[in-house]
Amino acid sequence: MFKKILVANRGEIALRIQRACRELGVRAVMVYSEADREAKYVKLAEEAVCIGPAQSTLSYLNMPAIISAAEVTDAEAIHPGYGFLSENADFAERVERSGFQFIGPTPESIRLMGDKVSAKQAMIKAGVPCVPGSEGELPDDPAQIRRIAKTVGYPVIIKAAGGGGGRGMRVVHTEAALINAVTMTRAEAGAAFGNPAVYLEKFLQDPRHIEIQVLADKFKNAVYLGERDCSMQRRHQKIIEEAPAPGIARKLIERLGERCVTACKKIAYRGAGTFEFLYEDGEFYFIEMNTRVQVEHPVTEMTTGVDIVKTQIMVAAGEKLPFTQRQIQIRGHAIECRINAEDPYKCTPSPGRITMWHAPGGPGVRVDSHIYTNYFVPPNYDSMIGKIIVHGDTREQAVARMVTALGETVVEGISSNIALHRELMLDAKFVAGGTNIHYLEEWLDHHQR
Ligand code: ADP
Repeated sequence: MFKKILVANRGEIALRIQRACRELGVRAVMVYSEADREAKYVKLAEEAVCIGPAQSTLSYLNMPAIISAAEVTDAEAIHPGYGFLSENADFAERVERSGFQFIGPTPESIRLMGDKVSAKQAMIKAGVPCVPGSEGELPDDPAQIRRIAKTVGYPVIIKAAGGGGGRGMRVVHTEAALINAVTMTRAEAGAAFGNPAVYLEKFLQDPRHIEIQVLADKFKNAVYLGERDCSMQRRHQKIIEEAPAPGIARKLIERLGERCVTACKKIAYRGAGTFEFLYEDGEFYFIEMNTRVQVEHPVTEMTTGVDIVKTQIMVAAGEKLPFTQRQIQIRGHAIECRINAEDPYKCTPSPGRITMWHAPGGPGVRVDSHIYTNYFVPPNYDSMIGKIIVHGDTREQAVARMVTALGETVVEGISSNIALHRELMLDAKFVAGGTNIHYLEEWLDHHQR
């Protein structure tokens, strides 16, 4: 096991990784920008290094600053968390070339899965079901593009190979709009991602977002830890996640999970990863793989009892996965609400000083948050200030626990989306389970105040 790890992230995930390190008896070096000097995990840290000003490009995205922080503190490995540099293959390569272990997959895996065209091709080869569409990048010839779209059938979606964060996508309903949409998406993708390659796939009308969590070691052992339903999204941003997915037959999930495990072995994947799918009419369609820990990992930890972050660190240190697929049992139901510093209905960010914070508690309640009373939420980063996760024997009990937990939570001084979560937990369709990816936006349209 490592003696010391550098945590190259901020916010709740930095604290989550610090906690995992403590349990493993590993020293965690925290890094922070000038805006995060007062963060809880910095105050709790045995060692912390300032890596630059508030602006992320100069701090959390500053590769030389992070690598030199690891050098001066004698860390052996770097945990990238999520966001920032976590899916940057060049960073992973620089970390390893500088003599540190990157806590995540190899740079080759990150590169393969980071390009959506190559990821999709690898998944087709591994037998993972994908959305029907162009085989690879779209050609230049308009006649050929029209032919591909016709075969797939309208509506179609044009997507950038290098896209991410819900950007670089355009839905096309008619042949008349096709070529113009391809040209525009290409131009945008070139400017935003430095890669103008685009591809085309069938646009699914009312799918749910279902994802499979995997863990793999360096010895080609891999397991899946069940699924998560992350269909409650706004602008392609998830705000509520749960496990298991309501109303989907276990057999279907098992078959899908096994395919994901096979794919991991085929691409020699290591570490934690998530295969994301759209689910419609009983079928799953792969859309992308995330090669890192995800915000919503706690719901899987609650239903499987597996500590995903600790396991990431253990496999990066060269240990074997400490369990086999047969030892993974799904128990009960878990739900996560992402708490954002924002207006609950307009969703505009609301940074500033938290004058009062009271966290919920009780059986089956977990809070992952770095905030405290008198903490200042900096305006420079993502608005998420924490997550409330609950576990119950049944989905019904989990929903009831979330209602109770949200009722106990107090955030004053800034706006938060707690009021929105409280309403959604009482919404008849959400309570019934199985809402699709458009449900939350439609709900917000009808409940604008
Ligand atoms: P990103 O990397 O930008 O998050 P994804 O490929 O994961 O892009 O897609 C993000 C979201 O866009 C999905 O969760 C879904 O809501 C929508 N989407 C993507 N592809 C399709 C598709 N073929 N049909 C319908 N919706 C899609």
